[in-house]
Amino acid sequence: MKKLLDALQQGICIINQKRIICYTNPVFLDLLGYRGCELIDEPIDELALFKEKEDLVMFRAKKGDYQKLKVKCLEQTFEEEVFKCILVESYTEKEEKEIEQEELEYEKGLQLGVLKKEFFANVSHEFKTPLNIILAMMQLMDKNNEDGTLVYQEGYNLNKYIKVVKQNAYRLLRLVNNLIDMTRIGAGYYPVKFENHNIIQVVEEITMSVAEYIQGKGIELIFDTEEEEVFLACDPEKIERIMLNLLSNAVKYMGPPEERDHILRISVEIEVNEESVCIYVKDNGMGIQEDKIQSIFERFVQVEDNLTARTDGSGIGLALVKSLIELHDGHIAVQSEEGVGSTFYFTLPIRQVEAVHNVIQRTTHNQIEKCSIEFSDVYDRLI
Ligand code: ADP
Repeated sequence: MKKLLDALQQGICIINQKRIICYTNPVFLDLLGYRGCELIDEPIDELALFKEKEDLVMFRAKKGDYQKLKVKCLEQTFEEEVFKCILVESYTEKEEKEIEQEELEYEKGLQLGVLKKEFFANVSHEFKTPLNIILAMMQLMDKNNEDGTLVYQEGYNLNKYIKVVKQNAYRLLRLVNNLIDMTRIGAGYYPVKFENHNIIQVVEEITMSVAEYIQGKGIELIFDTEEEEVFLACDPEKIERIMLNLLSNAVKYMGPPEERDHILRISVEIEVNEESVCIYVKDNGMGIQEDKIQSIFERFVQVEDNLTARTDGSGIGLALVKSLIELHDGHIAVQSEEGVGSTFYFTLPIRQVEAVHNVIQRTTHNQIEKCSIEFSDVYDRLI
């Protein structure tokens, strides 16, 4: 029997009921770099880390490092004593890669799980805040409602209440829009209507449409371009989403007013080269912590700000922006320095389409409404 086991091409180790090693074959010793009877009478649990139901086990090699081996255990009764025969095998490089990949995916899954949990907490908060504000406003309005007629009282400001309700309704709408779009992109169903447009004009019009709003917040807005006309295939509605998201972030993350002793400035600049157009959205706001820059385009990620109160937001705006740009075969990147400002820039390839691509459902919101929606979480804290 021993001769037979010695000759086997598979590593074998036999342990008794007390889990003490009583036999090892040469292949087993070779795999771990041991010799002769070195392992006999040693407890197996000092050599290997068995985990329940796992067929991959870590073994301590002679050199002290650990090696993962594929394991199969068989039980054998001999003279009324139960022995365990452990068959071990190293796995191929291909298998190793597969395992690594699996582990990586598992890790990613875990991380995504944590992010999702945080995201749901964030989103619930995002839904609750505007809803509570709307309800509070309704209550205030109701106070002055006498048999269906609003009665004037000192300090009653109906305009303000209506404005707050409207803004918070927009905020909810934006959140729902973003969630729906992200889900549709994630599911691979998101119609984009490519048509040849003068991208310079598209970007300029979008920028100008929010100029009054931005300047009204005491922020200078500059638009600068190298060229006046570059036609490329794009979906202006998506470009609008991208630009409004970047611009509203630039306003939102300007930093706390008491710390702003410089001229607040947002600039939109366009550079053109042979293959692509590059659009810059620059701000001199609070900037982004260096270690967070890499992750801000990921879904659900929000940079925690330990200096100021956490800003409202769900952390899906930039992920959506990135997906929209990628649907145009473009790229987005950011350069940012904390306390100095951020520059988000994205490229769009210059190429044209023969005919209109794809079908799209047009949203029914008009321009002013769209801006109100996109800028709805940069809101004046009225209450
Ligand atoms: P949110 O809904 O939180 O604004 P985004 O995906 O739009 O989500 O942004 C993700 C994070 O990136 C934000 O929480 C913010 O910390 C950071 N960020 C985005 N734009 C800027 C900017 N212009 N300046 C500073 N930080 C920014």
